[in-house]
Amino acid sequence: SFQDVPLAPPDVIFHLTAQYKADTFQHKVNLGVGAYRDDSGKPWVLPVVKKVEKIIVNDPTIDHEYLPILGLPPFREASIKLILGPDNPVIKEKRVVATQTISGTGACHLGSLFLSRFYSKSSVIYVSNPTWANHKAIFSNVGLEVKDYVYYSPKTIGLDINGMLESLKNAPNGSIILLHACAHNPTGVDPSQEQWKAIADIIEEKKHFPFFDCAYQGFASGDLDRDAWAVRYFVNRGFELLVCQSYAKNFGLYGQRAGCLTFVFKTAETAAKAESQLAKLQRSEISNPPAHGARIVNLVLNDPVLYAEWVDNLKTMSFRIQEMRRRLFDKLTALGTPGTWNHIVDQIGMFSFTGLKAPQVKVLKEKYHVYLTDNGRISMAGLSSSNVEYFAKAIDDVVRN
Ligand code: PMP
Repeated sequence: SFQDVPLAPPDVIFHLTAQYKADTFQHKVNLGVGAYRDDSGKPWVLPVVKKVEKIIVNDPTIDHEYLPILGLPPFREASIKLILGPDNPVIKEKRVVATQTISGTGACHLGSLFLSRFYSKSSVIYVSNPTWANHKAIFSNVGLEVKDYVYYSPKTIGLDINGMLESLKNAPNGSIILLHACAHNPTGVDPSQEQWKAIADIIEEKKHFPFFDCAYQGFASGDLDRDAWAVRYFVNRGFELLVCQSYAKNFGLYGQRAGCLTFVFKTAETAAKAESQLAKLQRSEISNPPAHGARIVNLVLNDPVLYAEWVDNLKTMSFRIQEMRRRLFDKLTALGTPGTWNHIVDQIGMFSFTGLKAPQVKVLKEKYHVYLTDNGRISMAGLSSSNVEYFAKAIDDVVRN
């Protein structure tokens, strides 16, 4: 009786990786993958994570019992401080609630599930056009209606701020607005602080609800405070909001699924009630979250020496990526490749929208064995000293022909 189940298309990124793996060409390049690679193209376990894992393994008090439903308490507290700043007054005012989640995806899921049950003003969430492909699937799974707001301009390969503000103005009052806290995926295009202020003005005027997705804090710029600027700015302005935190990228803990969902409410009383409902939802969804990744993050965030080491590791990752941006830009400039390429260095984070079109992407794949998504997005992490020149020459060829 299941013969009518339709075949679902494969996930674009996972499919791309499979094609890359099957390719036997020696100089093939994978620019699809959304995970950090070191300069030799290998996954990188952060040295601070390796160190802390040894501590955990040798700690006789650690067992494999269940965590509490809402997760490891000091991990939740440290996550709040990391994203909002340790002295944020909402913490003392007890207006903030944090739930440990199945990484950033789980935070997006639980946050939107909570809104679908308890946010009475709207069941529509507006996401940037384009956005991380999984956003739409996650939000429609919990019954929210997903609509787009204008974000990226193919003409300028940058932010269409007027279009964005116009869309937010046209959305019905009280809509849920998904915002990428930093390092917008897939474009790498972030609003400036001035632009964030204009965005906050409209969201306030329209009484929208800001839903921040923060998957790259510290990984984007190497500066944890800078990458949290937009979220803190909104909190300081008095918004009720939520933030999804992922420790996949900034701790390299992809498969450990460590994340956190943080809500800021107007009153401590609402926060306490919401916490009880989040626990109830969490219980039926996953019962309780996984322990290992949260323990690693917890030890690092709560120890000043380990924390400093982590910041150092973050700088290693983000600076390598910035270096690859600069070298790609320099090579294209040296080759005199037609077009403007400043966006490569202006964009931030793991991803870059190159402006390359689908037919050019096709040639890159077939002639040069370079794998990227059809929308021209590249993962900077896939570039290294040994392939950046090859890639620049390949771009130069497809742009000229
Ligand atoms: N949001 C965005 C914008 C992302 O890019 C990602 C990672 N690709 C996530 C959320 C969540 O990833 P994870 O569930 O691995 O933390």
